[in-house]
Amino acid sequence: MIGSPPNYSDNTVCPKCHTQVPLETVEVRTFFKCPHCCSLIRVRPSYLAAQTLISQCVGFCISYSIGLRWAWFVLLGVVFGILVGVFYTLLVKYLVPPRLEVYYPKSTRDTTVTTLDLNQK
Ligand SMILES: [Zn+2]
Repeated sequence: MIGSPPNYSDNTVCPKCHTQVPLETVEVRTFFKCPHCCSLIRVRPSYLAAQTLISQCVGFCISYSIGLRWAWFVLLGVVFGILVGVFYTLLVKYLVPPRLEVYYPKSTRDTTVTTLDLNQK
C-alpha cells in the first residue's frame, strides 16, 4: 500500500542473508528476489498446499450451504474454492506469515531473473 510503512514478520526472513523481508514483497504463488541480497526465494510449498486445501474446503462449504448437491455441488465447489483462494492469497500472508526458503530453478526456463551468484552450488 502506498504511504503505509512496510509490515514485517519474524517468519518472513530471507534464508540466505537472514534479514526480514517485508510482507508486501512476499509473493505467495511464485518465487521472488530478496530485496536485500537479491537471492531467489519462495514461500515453502507446504504453506501453498495448506492454503489451497483450506480454500477448496471453504469453497465446498459455500456450495453445500447454498443447497447445491451432486454435480453442481462439485462443480461450483471448485469454482468457489478458486475464488476464495484468490482473496485468501491476498490476505493470508498478513494473517499467517509464511516461512521462506531458497528457490533453485529447475531450468533456465523457470526464471527470467539473471543472477551471478558465485557462492551458489
Ligand atoms: Zn536475502
